[in-house]
Amino acid sequence: MKKKISILGSTGSIGVNTLEVISSAPDRFEVVGLACGTQVSVLEKQIEDFHPKMVSVGKEDLARGLQQKFPHLEVLWGEEGLVSLAKDSRTDLVVSALVGARGIEPTLAAIESKKDIALANKEVLVAAGALIMPEVHRHGVRLLPIDSEHSALFQVFENHNRNSIEKIILTASGGPFLHRPKETFPLVVPEEALKHPRWSMGKRITIDSATLMNKGFEMIEACWLFDLSPSQIEVVVHPQSIIHSLISYRDGNMLACLSAPDMKAPISYALSYPERISTEVVRLNLAKVKELTFLEPDVEKFPLLKLSYEVAKKGDVYPAVMNAADEIAVEAFLRRQISFVQIPQLISETVSAYQESFPLSLEGILGADAWGRRKAEELIKVLS
Ligand code: MG
Repeated sequence: MKKKISILGSTGSIGVNTLEVISSAPDRFEVVGLACGTQVSVLEKQIEDFHPKMVSVGKEDLARGLQQKFPHLEVLWGEEGLVSLAKDSRTDLVVSALVGARGIEPTLAAIESKKDIALANKEVLVAAGALIMPEVHRHGVRLLPIDSEHSALFQVFENHNRNSIEKIILTASGGPFLHRPKETFPLVVPEEALKHPRWSMGKRITIDSATLMNKGFEMIEACWLFDLSPSQIEVVVHPQSIIHSLISYRDGNMLACLSAPDMKAPISYALSYPERISTEVVRLNLAKVKELTFLEPDVEKFPLLKLSYEVAKKGDVYPAVMNAADEIAVEAFLRRQISFVQIPQLISETVSAYQESFPLSLEGILGADAWGRRKAEELIKVLS
């Protein structure tokens, strides 16, 4: 029996890589649904290549155009379209690869409909982990990480020894500004921040990698996935991005997972779990790699890493507020409305200003998310 897969975010970097993995194992996987925002020309090609039963796009007019071209295809649109596609009874596994908090509702809908989830959209856990994890357990579904660090941890996590874990070590490439002097940070332009040294990814996560916000999010993601506290998670900079993370057990043994930096490695494991399938991922030649280096992250230079630990300890809806502020700050930076150093400033001020009391329900988390966005927008007006 083929595993039936739907992808939320099929035209983004993770979506495209997922379809490459699927096309290399056509006897194992079948595509049921594809959802994207506005990149309809890419989606049309995917429809022709993978013959999904249903698709969903961001807007109604785009859906109408697609329906005319593909009269036999079920074409949906908007938030409702995403949720319907995520819940569809023909699907076994939903790849959650949207960007930002907008992935929360469709991912939750998929879990409630008993779909296994391959999770790339880390903001779902950052903002709504308190809501998502109990539902994952209640419905007995698998939450399989696609984020490379978490896939690595998942692969070396010994469930029977979970109480013997001393700490988790998340590796970070350090981003494009690892060696750039802090004094020059006010001059950083979007083009420089978008040049990631190791990974080719979407714009939001690339900027988040340049500020190390992404690593802070990943720390929170790891807390939820592996039921750990922030104090059990350490970050180490590893510029080669070959060791994707490690677990240190109490007997002094450390387990690491290595691969070439290619998202098809973690994606294929999430799709094929518990089995492993053949992939074209480039094999590491360790003699050619020669050296793996590590250094401590500079939290003065990258204050968002420190802030994320404070926010994680506060818990409640604070991580949702931090994520919302980051989404707004990154967009404003890409529009050149605020400077690179104003990204952490804006996020930190938004989090400090939070004094509401949204509950940890779906409505509450979405309310906190909306509050964070509004507050960040207000602060941008003051800054710019
Ligand atoms: Mg990652």
